[in-house]
Amino acid sequence: MLLFLTVVALIAGAAAFHFWSKRQSRLTLLATSLSQHQRDIVSAQVPIIRKLPKDLRGALEGKINLFLDQVDFVGCDGLDVTEDMQVSIAAQACLLVVNTDQWYDNLTTILVYPGAFKSKQRRHSGYVVTEQEIIRSGESWNRGPVILSWTHSQRGALNDHDGRNVVFHEFAHQLDDLSGATNGVPVLSNGQSFGEWETAFLNGYKAHVHAVENGKPTVIDPYGAEGHEEFFAVSVEVFFERPKELKSSDPAIYEQLSKLFHLDPALWHRGQF
Ligand SMILES: [Zn+2]
Repeated sequence: MLLFLTVVALIAGAAAFHFWSKRQSRLTLLATSLSQHQRDIVSAQVPIIRKLPKDLRGALEGKINLFLDQVDFVGCDGLDVTEDMQVSIAAQACLLVVNTDQWYDNLTTILVYPGAFKSKQRRHSGYVVTEQEIIRSGESWNRGPVILSWTHSQRGALNDHDGRNVVFHEFAHQLDDLSGATNGVPVLSNGQSFGEWETAFLNGYKAHVHAVENGKPTVIDPYGAEGHEEFFAVSVEVFFERPKELKSSDPAIYEQLSKLFHLDPALWHRGQF
């Protein structure tokens, strides 16, 4: 009996130590600044970060460190994933969560292709399941990897005012997944009203589908009409890249995203990182 209790105590102690040391390492990473070389990469590759308010830059750098420590980057089709690529993708992903407690808990791997890649898509029609191959620039799996085309990820970051950013898009899906269902309703921030979110996004989606079906121009990418989860993801892209236009065209969507991320990019001005 004494031996049994000793073994149980040792196992519990080891588990507690493991948890404690993981937490300590996380806190250390979050409190660590980027090197000047990494800052230069962020500044050159992800110009939107130069608009981020100064008081959020320390948090961003810590989160980039945590992200780089947590995630394995795997090059596909012979791609050598360089530090520039890793830091660029990490900076874009971390911008979405720079001012909240949300984190990509389930993410351990990012697959990076040199350019657009082929992906199999399953369609269900009654009992019939068909599979077709489509070309993609990004993909996000529920509790699984994010897959990115480097060409599109880099281009999306370098042009930070066209409302298109594949990394923001796929990581919006990752945040959406954290609620347990990829349905366009992420885990809302403390105090955020589900009713107000639902009203804003249901009305916004309905109006968006109507506009797209009638060939009217929209600030939010027409791809958002594909479904509620895509509407959320493309809304996140324009929230960061065309915030003033989104605030003017879809103020309720802008307000909800601003509450979700605790950010107000319509007020940002470009400075130095
Ligand atoms: Zn999508």
